[in-house]
Amino acid sequence: MVIKSQESAAQALRREMGELRGQVAALEMADKHRPEYGLERGDPAITRWELERALLERLRQRAAKVEQALTEVGNGTRGICAQCGEHIHPDRVAVLPGTRLCIRCAKEAEGESRPRRRRR
Ligand SMILES: [Zn+2]
Repeated sequence: MVIKSQESAAQALRREMGELRGQVAALEMADKHRPEYGLERGDPAITRWELERALLERLRQRAAKVEQALTEVGNGTRGICAQCGEHIHPDRVAVLPGTRLCIRCAKEAEGESRPRRRRR
């Protein structure tokens, strides 16, 4: 799907934000019903609780990125590479709502941040 305008991109982001908030709220509710200590290790209730916490953490990270993307739509920097100022491919923006780099700059940044092998 190609995003036609900043407006529809913002609408899609707001919709995703709403969905994420709903999911986070539901999981936070479940989080309050944390199983009591004293259950045996490997208890299904504990395992489920741990899985839900991991999911909640991922949803929160996603929500933070979507929120950042919405801010960028607001100030007109959405889809513009923070490094080189070129347009970021819409497919990349759609997959990574929080991205601020085009594919080329992202690859360069990745190469730079990769720890260099030390000689002994
Ligand atoms: Zn770039």
